Amino acid sequence: MATHQFQTEVSQLLNLIVHSLYSHKEIFLRELVSNSSDAIDKLKYLTMTDDAYKSLQFDPRIDISFDETNHKSITIADTGIGMNEAELVENLGTIAKSGTKGFVAQLTGDAKKDSNLIGQFGVGFYSAFMVADKVEVTSRKAGEESAYRWVSDGKGEFEITPTEMDSFGTTITLHLNDEGKEYANRWQIQDVVKKYSDHIAFPIYLRYTKSEYDDKGKEKGKEEKLEQINAASALWKQGKTALSDDDYKNFYKTISHDSEDPLFWLHTKAEGTLEYTTLFYVPSQAPFDMYQVDYRPGVKLYVQRVFITDDEKELMPTYLRFLRGIIDSEDLPLNVSREILQENRVMASIRSASVKKVLGELQRIALEDKELYTKFIAQYNRPLKEGLYQDYANRDALMDLVRFKSTSVDGYTSLDEYKQRMLGDQKAIYYITGDDEQTLRNSPLLEAYRKKEIEVLIMDDDFDEVVIPTLGKYKETDLKAVNRADAGDDLKEKADKGKEKELKPVVERIKKALGDRVKDVRLSIRLADSPSCIVVDDADPTMKMQSLLKAMGQKDLPDVKPILEINPDHAIVAKLASLGDSQSDQEFVDDVSFLLLDQALLVEGAPVKQPADFVKRLNRVVGRAL
Ligand code: ADP
Repeated sequence: MATHQFQTEVSQLLNLIVHSLYSHKEIFLRELVSNSSDAIDKLKYLTMTDDAYKSLQFDPRIDISFDETNHKSITIADTGIGMNEAELVENLGTIAKSGTKGFVAQLTGDAKKDSNLIGQFGVGFYSAFMVADKVEVTSRKAGEESAYRWVSDGKGEFEITPTEMDSFGTTITLHLNDEGKEYANRWQIQDVVKKYSDHIAFPIYLRYTKSEYDDKGKEKGKEEKLEQINAASALWKQGKTALSDDDYKNFYKTISHDSEDPLFWLHTKAEGTLEYTTLFYVPSQAPFDMYQVDYRPGVKLYVQRVFITDDEKELMPTYLRFLRGIIDSEDLPLNVSREILQENRVMASIRSASVKKVLGELQRIALEDKELYTKFIAQYNRPLKEGLYQDYANRDALMDLVRFKSTSVDGYTSLDEYKQRMLGDQKAIYYITGDDEQTLRNSPLLEAYRKKEIEVLIMDDDFDEVVIPTLGKYKETDLKAVNRADAGDDLKEKADKGKEKELKPVVERIKKALGDRVKDVRLSIRLADSPSCIVVDDADPTMKMQSLLKAMGQKDLPDVKPILEINPDHAIVAKLASLGDSQSDQEFVDDVSFLLLDQALLVEGAPVKQPADFVKRLNRVVGRAL
């Protein structure tokens, strides 16, 4: 006998499951049946593709029985691939994926908050401890002789001992606690299996005894019954009309382990040169590991209803990694390997047709069900933006699907809606990028646009900075950043040649005062109330981009200097222009020049380079004004 410790994360997870999921206790059965079904799927695949397994006596099934007298146990047995000793330790004692570990690390210990988190996380095998104070797993791996028993009370340790089994597969016995007793009951088991596991592809049998009564109602004997309690038909192969919303929702919960309903789903049957069925779901909450490199893909591949893989990230493009569901092809070979899959033409066309279908459905929802689309965008705007640069072929469709904040509307807007609101003579779509929505909304860069009632999109997502500049145009209309030197045609007519000449000397003076702190000093056409602002040269990365590059570990970044723009109509500028050459005037021009630059940086949310100098200058200027 060997005693093992659960990995710390497993203990934490166990603790959490037991304490926060008690209102959904019944899901333990769904999770265990789903594990059994996965194990049978895996073995079935081997028997069809691997010579070593072809001669195996394989009878795919799941058997459930329970203690009918004392209601103290439930047993779930499968004829799947089984686990050997090392796999028992690894699979039922550790969390291998760093994504999952990261998830556990986020847990707070506050049952309420945690249960929200755990809703979108597959609790799997460990959910058994919600209803049992002891769990026994006996398993023999297909193709091996030895069998092992894993036993634990879920309190930090488990034991493994050698045992005997006639055939391969896994049997799990739950020694029920007080909360679990109600499940040792024929009707309960039937209900839960019907609800979640009706369309598990393999038969699920329930063993129970039925009492026989005579016509006076007296028990005359008992009969052992073995009854199949699920339909065992692939749900996705059925016609849409035969399926109710509840059928779809419950099936979703089985394959996704999510405890919430999906936002929506899309069931498609393709017939023609290629025959396949797809059923895609969008979870109502973005999967917890969506932004982790080792995220778990959510789409399973079947070939003629035989499970092939659920661990293939290439089935759908990465930006659609939040999708859950099934692709079932009639045309792929059963023994399709990962390498074949990635270069396979059939797979490639299923994939590209599926992406088009999903994007088309999103477009339909965006038009027909705004409320639903808003919910979708709240979770998935960001991955759609990733699609803008990952999926060039569908860029136009994606540009219609992404949403942005704006100076003209509350909530989110589409580029198309922006276009419809454009002024008659407006030449471009304008946007401003940065960190913080409020800072952006208050930016002096927006003043002239506001005055002219030109809408500006507020892009405060890190990612906007990376993808939006690469787009260039939306349906023939230029997309222009307002924090770039080229302010766009819509403001050009504001430039006043006479003023330019008049203010040239003061511009030169400021430039000289600031020296190499700026790339240039120019008269602005975009300011109304503020005296100054900063912009970046069209070829330079914006401030936001620079800090992103730094955060990504890029060293040796050239020091990109801003261009300072000053407002030709502002009193401060006019006053500066009137100053003479005396020493005190000269010092005053110096101080004000720096203050013009520093305030422009401050208002953009950038730190002032030398705060002490800034304060000294500020005080000198205030002193002079008083
Ligand atoms: P998940 O199923 O999400 O991977 P679980 O905690 O439910 O997580 O199970 C962990 C692993 O244990 C599974 O991935 C599988 O490898 C193994 N496992 C669980 N149940 C069985 C079973 N009935 N037969 C074979 N392997 C199993």
